Amino acid sequence: MLIYSKISMNQKKILISGASIAGPTLAFWLNRFGFSATIVERADSLRLGGQNIDIRGAAQKIAQLMGMEDEIRAADTGELGVRFVDENENTKAELPKGGSNIGTSELEILRGDLAQILYNHTVNDVEYLFDNQIVSLNEFEEGVKVTFQKGEDRDFDLVICADGIRSRTRSLIFGDEPVVRFLNLYMCYFTIPKIPSDSRWARWYNATDSRVIFIRPDNVGTTRASFSFLSEPKGYEKLTLAEQKAILKQKFGDAGWEATRILTALDKDTEIYFDGISQVIAPNWSKGRCAMTGDAAFCPSPLSGMGASLSMVGAYILAGELSKHSDYKDAFAAYEKLLRPYVNQIQKLPPGVPHLAHPKSKIGISILNTIINFISSKIVKSIGNLFSNKNKLSTDDTIELPDYWKSEVMV
Ligand SMILES: Cc1cc2nc3c(=O)[nH]c(=O)nc-3n(C[C@H](O)[C@H](O)[C@H](O)COP(=O)(O)OP(=O)(O)OC[C@H]3O[C@@H](n4cnc5c(N)ncnc54)[C@H](O)[C@@H]3O)c2cc1C
Repeated sequence: MLIYSKISMNQKKILISGASIAGPTLAFWLNRFGFSATIVERADSLRLGGQNIDIRGAAQKIAQLMGMEDEIRAADTGELGVRFVDENENTKAELPKGGSNIGTSELEILRGDLAQILYNHTVNDVEYLFDNQIVSLNEFEEGVKVTFQKGEDRDFDLVICADGIRSRTRSLIFGDEPVVRFLNLYMCYFTIPKIPSDSRWARWYNATDSRVIFIRPDNVGTTRASFSFLSEPKGYEKLTLAEQKAILKQKFGDAGWEATRILTALDKDTEIYFDGISQVIAPNWSKGRCAMTGDAAFCPSPLSGMGASLSMVGAYILAGELSKHSDYKDAFAAYEKLLRPYVNQIQKLPPGVPHLAHPKSKIGISILNTIINFISSKIVKSIGNLFSNKNKLSTDDTIELPDYWKSEVMV
């Protein structure tokens, strides 16, 4: 395991909003570079839901540098690949792990496991404030005065939003300048009890009317499920949990296959992640003493398969540039210059995504299944991005990570 000593006596205080992937990665590196990091998280504890995510390319290198690659490997979900099934469980196509550049990837971990590992590696050095959030920010000459929903106002040198695609902190800073671009797809992830027929294979089922049900194995004795469906924007992400579950019942009640089992389990499930699949397009990632990273700044959407990896890369570069520059304005500018081309590339989705994987009619589904059999075709690779969390562009290696820990730090 690599050990980094603090290379700066710079005890600038940095507040980060959001304790998922981007926030704790940023805090880890800020701490290594000698800053004092505080994370405020709206939820009352870590949110551990979600499905498999990939750690790829540059993010894998960052995980290595953070000394957590072995833990991530040990938490691999053990998925053997993806099977496309019909209503009667007949396999129409099969993509074994590593057998193609889509489907199950080499390094897959549950999103919650990654969040937990990141938390474990930061909790001793970073101040965590759960069940709280920023309600206002007032910048002054020497810093930012932050008013929290609970507790006293506090001053920080810098504030970073890492609180996801619907970031409210981002709105406090940037107003409506960043655009959340909806991709006409709603998706909901949750955990259900495992039954004997749930094997190590993930199963993908297309129902008519542009609906998909996807079941994946995990490494903790449960099963991960997701529903997705094409739709015009309806604001479902703003509904209450009960209303969202009602929408899912209405949408998937007659979908066939394992829909009834999953909807029954959904009744008992406490946490679901339901959102309109979107990308965040922000012309600026910083304003004054505030900046943003992760999904809040540049969500590429789960269709890219790069959400977690990109958020780790962004956090690492933001921390590194802050360590390199004495003036935060130069650091923010350098962060954006270095990262933006990479983000732009990852945010480019293949033509037809997400519609290709969500055919409306039975004929469309049968055409899709035929296409899937040609697993080496470009179309199939595009389709694969919808369920594999795998980057269609294979851009993961196209950013060179600077060796910040070797940099001289200006105080
Ligand atoms: C519960 C959950 C499940 C997910 N499941 C999947 C999945 O299965 N597949 C997938 O591809 N992606 C999933 N995602 C999204 C995925 O984690 C991100 O796309 C990616 O990892 C980038 O992470 P992030 O840290 O930038 O943002 P996010 O992972 O979205 O995390 C944002 C964090 O900020 C917190 N937060 C929100 N608002 C505030 C506020 N006002 N103040 C303080 N904290 C706030 C949230 O509670 C959350 O912990 C999930 C996210 C969450 C939160």
